[in-house]
Order: sequence, then structure tokens, then C-alpha cells
Amino acid sequence: MKSFDENRDLTSSLPITPQMQRDLADMLNRNMFTGLAMTFVAFLGLTFGFGFDTEKDQSSKVLLFIAMNTVIVLRFADGLYWLTRLKGTQYDARPVKFRFAIGVYSTSTVWALYSILLYTTMNAVELATTMVILGAMAGGAASVLAPSKIFVFVYTTSLLVPMSSRALLDDDRNFVVLGILGLIFWVGILASSFRYHRFFFDTVSLKNKNARLIEQMRTDRQETAKINAMLRKSNEQLDDANANLEDEVEKRTADIFRLSNRDPLTNLLNRNGLFKQLNTLIESTKALDNNLAVLFIDLDGFKQVNDSLGHKVGDIVLAEIANRLAQYCEKDHLARWGGDEFVAVTPYATVHTAVAVAHAMRSGVTKPIIALENQITLDATIGIAIYPEHGNDTMTLIQQADLTMYDQKRKQRGTIGVFSETLHEKIKNEQRLCEQLRYAIEKKEFSVHYQPIICADTQKLKSVEALLRWNCNGNIVSPARFIPLAERTGLMPEIGSWVLNRACIDATEWPFNEDIALSVNVSISQLLDETFVNALDKVLASTNIDPARLYLEITESVFANNVNAVANQIHNVKQRGVKISIDDFGTGYSSLSRLQSMPCDFIKIDRSFVQNTNEGSDTIMRATMLIANEFGCKTIAEGIETLDQMNHIKTLGVDFIQGFLYAKPMPLSDLKTWYNENK
Ligand code: C2E
Ligand code: MG
Ligand code: MG
Repeated sequence: MKSFDENRDLTSSLPITPQMQRDLADMLNRNMFTGLAMTFVAFLGLTFGFGFDTEKDQSSKVLLFIAMNTVIVLRFADGLYWLTRLKGTQYDARPVKFRFAIGVYSTSTVWALYSILLYTTMNAVELATTMVILGAMAGGAASVLAPSKIFVFVYTTSLLVPMSSRALLDDDRNFVVLGILGLIFWVGILASSFRYHRFFFDTVSLKNKNARLIEQMRTDRQETAKINAMLRKSNEQLDDANANLEDEVEKRTADIFRLSNRDPLTNLLNRNGLFKQLNTLIESTKALDNNLAVLFIDLDGFKQVNDSLGHKVGDIVLAEIANRLAQYCEKDHLARWGGDEFVAVTPYATVHTAVAVAHAMRSGVTKPIIALENQITLDATIGIAIYPEHGNDTMTLIQQADLTMYDQKRKQRGTIGVFSETLHEKIKNEQRLCEQLRYAIEKKEFSVHYQPIICADTQKLKSVEALLRWNCNGNIVSPARFIPLAERTGLMPEIGSWVLNRACIDATEWPFNEDIALSVNVSISQLLDETFVNALDKVLASTNIDPARLYLEITESVFANNVNAVANQIHNVKQRGVKISIDDFGTGYSSLSRLQSMPCDFIKIDRSFVQNTNEGSDTIMRATMLIANEFGCKTIAEGIETLDQMNHIKTLGVDFIQGFLYAKPMPLSDLKTWYNENK
């Protein structure tokens, strides 16, 4: 059997696909039933239509008729099989075509045998009729078998060629003509069947092309649908992700809001949160034409707790204080301003109610706190500012309350103060003073006065304390006033450095012998300034003063500050041979353990004890003497104004004396005169 590929349309670039093979096989089978019927009728007519000349003739015809009918039945059965089982399915066309070929070849063979075997037995009419019928059959086959050129060729050849060839050899010229006509007819049929074939093939190709296009379109549509489904799915996923993202963003925003508005330790509002809250409260208070109080609360004694018991205890204490304060106001009206400072806002409050709330808060704070087995007692100083009396906006109100608290703290810790015009004036003056202080060095308004310190036993000059004086536009401003101001505004390191330099230069001009020491006051901010040791080295080098002759007076209050940094600086100072005096001893906060970690050379008993003749002061002075002895320090009593005070002090065993009894602080020129008069 030849493959369908021989039917390939050479003008088409399309290969013969299985579907095309099926289409061609379908066409052949579809036409086969008519073909078989025609064959049966034709064969029946030819076999029995002309009678039988001889018995041999009869048996040949009947045998051929049986053979043809067998072929027809088999082909019919095969056709039925195709019709019922295969048609419309994706069947393999090759075996179908194979069986069809056998059928065609068999039919052709029977027709060929018929012509060859029975030619001589036919009379003129039968012969002519047979030739006509064969011609008609061949003509019919040209279209029925057109899907396959080989089938047409084999079939029409077997129908026409044997009979026509035999007729050509006939004696009768009429049959010769018929033979010639038969052959011409054969050639014509072949030619037209080949055209048919081309037509069929093109039709099938086109159909397949279309089918493929439709298939392609279907695939494309399916593909598009698939992509659409995927897009829909990813859209849904995107929607989900967006929803999740929105949730996440919302959560993050809440977190950020919490982080940016809340203090993590106490969970109270932080500064940021307070500003927002106070802004809103002020707006609503304004709308209602009402009052509002801002309370600035600063803990007293918290620094010491932190320093002595550690930050862990400090944190517990702050959280506990926050809880206690929250009992007296709305939690969202309470903020941690920073460190141990809190701000509370009480809407609709007059001065009276604000003060009452402040008292309640103080009493809450002063109750003992247990933190990691330590019992701690604190107090609070509170400053109050009222809207709209003391300020119209958030910042001003907080500032006024803060300043009031600060002022209150300076006057008396653990008290409550309300902002007032007097305080406002005082603050304004301080601000003005501050401005002027900034330019005091530049304007050469500072000078240093010196106050002698006398040896109690020998009554000889031991040292001289340098005390800063400020002549501010003709007004002498007390150091007790401007030094704390300079501390607060960060001017102290610069001013202190100027004093140290001036005093050391002056010391080189002293008229007395070189044993006399120079005492210079050093404030906490100056001591802790990172440039301090450098400045000290520079002064020592430039004035060539013996370090052992230089005493630095630091107030006892420095011990309440950053212990390690202070100890470190004292260590640096002592390393250079410079001596340390603890000023105003007994007035501030100090502990024996602190004293031990910060070795000093002198302890100066504050003049408040010297001038107070009560027993308490005496006890403190005696205790101070004991401590000084214990730590190997010499003692200096400040503020001796009378002989009685001096005599009393001497009985306590004080080493050195300083006071108006001997001399007031004086300019360098006067010091020279004083020394000459009192040597
Ligand atoms: P301070 O260091 O305790 O100085 C002693 C203060 O007592 C001086 O006051 C002095 O004039 C005063 N004084 C001395 N003897 C008597 C007396 O018999 N009776 C009375 N009523 N007062 C007496 P001043 O000069 O007003 O200084 C006050 C404080 O200012 C100083 O106390 C010191 O803490 C600070 N100060 C002064 N100059 C400087 C400085 O250059 N740097 C630093 N950091 N502080 C300074
Ligand atoms: Mg002093
Ligand atoms: Mg003093």
C-alpha cells in the first residue's frame, strides 16, 4: 500500500497531517456506498442481461459475479465499520486506507478478469454495452476515487484498458474504433480525475488550514482565558496583598504613632504626644472659654536613686511614680517630659484646683516605693501655669510651668509654686542678665577679688581664694546670682577658664612669698567640661605656677552628679599635683563612700554652720572635723566675722580660717596693701 504522502499537494507547503489523511479516507468511504451499488447493478446487468452462450461462459460469468459480490459485501462491511465506528473519531487513517485499497484493487481485478475472460464470448451488442457501462463506471470512479490518484489510475485502467486493448485487436473495425475511443476516454478520465484529485486535496488542505486556524483560535482563546484566569488570580492575590499591606501599614502607623507619641518606659505621652494633646485641649478650652492648668513636676532625690541604686531601680521608680501620678489626672493628660520630669494637664482647672491636684500628686509621690528590695522615698517640686492667664499656647504654658518649678526648686524643694507676674519679671531679668553675661568677658566686665585664708594656729597667711566679680554696666552682680545663671546657660566653662587664667597670672605678681597658695572655685559644669584638663595644663604651663600651690574648690554638690566622671576628673587634677578643696561642706549631698572615692586635701566648713551658734551646727562641725581627720584632710572655716566665732572655731581644731574678720575679698592691688599692713 502506498502512503497518503504521495498525495501531497506540491504547491502547498502544508504537510499531510493525520487529520488530512482522515479527511481523505472519509471522502473515499463516504462515496464508496454509491460506487458499490453502481458496481453491483452494473455487474448484475452485464452478467445476467445478455444470457449465456455456453455453459463455460455461464460458469465464468457466475463465478466472476460471485467474486465481485464477495468483494462488494466485504467492502460494504468495511464501509459500515468506518461509518459506525470510526467516522468522527480521531482514528488512524492508514489501516482504513489499506483496506480500502485492497477493496479497490480487488474490484479492479474482477473487472479486468471480466473483460479479458469474457471478451471473446460477447456478441456485438453486449460488447458495446459492456464498453459503455465500463466507460460509465470508470467515469464515475474518476470523481468517487478522486481523493487518491493511484486508486483512480488502477481502477479506471483495469476497467477500460484490457477491454479497449482487446477491442483494438478485433477484426471488426467498429470495435477497433470503440477500443480507440475507450483508450481516449481512459486518458480523459485520468486527466479529469487528476484535476478532481487536486480539487479534493486543496479542499481538504483548506479545511484543515481552517480547522487549524480554528484550533489555533481555540487554543489562543483557551490561552487567553488561562492568562485571564491567572491575571484574575494574581489580581485577587494583589488585592489580598494590598489588604494585608493596608493592615500592616495601619499597624505600623499605630506603632509609629505609639513610638513617636509615647514614652516606652512609663507608657505615658512623650513630649511629642503632649504637644499634640495640649494643643487639642487648648483649642477645646478656648472654645468653651474656660481654664486649663499645666503642672510641671520634677522629682526631688531621683538622681541620687539612679546614681546609688542603679538605672534598673531608677526605671522601676519612674514607672511607679507614673502610675501614682496617673491616679490624679487622665492618663492621656500626663506626659513624661524627660528624665525625672513629668507634665500633667488638668482641663477646667482654676489655680485652686490645680494646686489641690498638685498637693495630691506630691502626697502620691512621697509615699515610700519598694524597688528591688530597696525602700525609696522621693518628693516632687511642682510648677503650675494656667491657660489663658499665664500663656496662650502650648510652648509658653509648659515653659512657664517649668520656670516656676525651677524657681520653686531653688527656693525650697518639695514645694508647689504658681506662675506669677513677679516670677515672670524675675525670669525676664534673668534672661536679660543672661544676655549681658554672654558678653561680659568681651566687655571686660569681670574682675577677680581675693580673700585671704589664715592659719588658725600661726595666724599667718596660708592661701588666697579667688572670687569672681561682675560689674554689669556699673552694677555689681553677686556671683551667687550669676554663677548659677552661667551654669544653666553653658557659659560657665568659658568664664571659669577665664578666672583660672586671671588668678594664676595675678598669683605670679603677688608680693608675698611663694608658699602662699591660690584657691580657685571650679563649678561642676566647668569640671566636667572635656576641655577643662587641657585648660588647666595650659595655665600651669603658661604661668609656671607650682601645681602644689593651686587648690581647686569644688562644691560638695558635685558629688550628686555623674559620679564616675567627677571621680575621673578629680583623679586627673590630682595627678598634676593640684590640690582639691571641698567647698560649702555640710550643705549639699555627700556620703562617706563618695568622699572616699574622691580624695580631697581640704574641707571647707560652710559659713552657715560657723555663723549659727546653735548646737546642731556645732554637732555638724564636730562631725566634719572627724570626717576630715579620718580622710586626712585639713579643714577651713569660712565666714568668720567675729573674734568669738574665731575662738569657737579654734576650739574645734579647725586648721584654717577665712572671713571678714581678717579680710573681705579685695582686688589684687588692695591685697598687696593688705599684706603689707598685716604681715
Ligand atoms: P564660696 O566659694 O563659698 O566663697 C565664699 C563666699 O563667702 C564669698 O562670697 C565670700 O565673699 C563670702 N564670705 C567670705 N567670708 C565671709 C564672711 O565673713 N561673711 C560673709 N557674709 N561672707 C563671707 P562671694 O564672693 O559672693 O561668692 C559667692 C559664691 O560664688 C562662692 O562661694 C562661690 O561658690 C561662687 N563663686 C565666686 N567666684 C567664683 C568663681 O570664680 N567660680 C565659681 N565656680 N564660683 C565662684
Ligand atoms: Mg569657694
Ligand atoms: Mg564656700
